[in-house]
Amino acid sequence: MFTAVDHPLAQHYLTDLRSVDTDTPRFRASARRLAYLLVAEATADLGLVDVEIQTPLERTHSGRLARPVVAVAVFRAGLGLLDAALDMLPEALIGYAGVQRNEETAEPMEYYYKFPPMENARVLILEPMLATGGSLAWAVEKVKEHGATDITAVCVVAAPEGVAHMERMHPDVRVVAASLDRDLNEHFYIRPGLGDMGDRLFGT
Ligand code: URA
Repeated sequence: MFTAVDHPLAQHYLTDLRSVDTDTPRFRASARRLAYLLVAEATADLGLVDVEIQTPLERTHSGRLARPVVAVAVFRAGLGLLDAALDMLPEALIGYAGVQRNEETAEPMEYYYKFPPMENARVLILEPMLATGGSLAWAVEKVKEHGATDITAVCVVAAPEGVAHMERMHPDVRVVAASLDRDLNEHFYIRPGLGDMGDRLFGT
């Protein structure tokens, strides 16, 4: 299932990311601010357990997250969303997935992964650019092999090709993004897109 986050603030920060006039520090800050909204949407359906607490005035009932959350950052660009995810979910355990795409074929080439226990957790895969979907589908396959059963992908921009690939390969995975863009160019970059997210985040 695909969800576009069309909150005005999300669109405001996305405009920063898209603009070629945005420098690296502002790009990083806007990515982080957008990530708060994306993570809020990606966790909007999490269940709560009732807890009894004492306010300064009286005892009352309130809610706490019923299940753990694991955030998996896909290198490199996923790191740009990780700080915000950890701000919101300080108890989340963190995984890393390293995949590089072959610039000619766009095929994913795995080089590293390390995951915490994932059974019973909501697993958020931070993969900002959903282009062909090859890298995200690979990351989902890996986390499933490690016990994940409840997976949501947190993306900034998605291409229709990537969304279709995910629906074919992993129809159980929810994809949240700030925009469903038009298409991919001949180098598998998303249009209108925002360019290379890793380069823009890290100044490379
Ligand atoms: N990765 C990026 O960083 N940008 C794209 O447009 C596609 C994949």
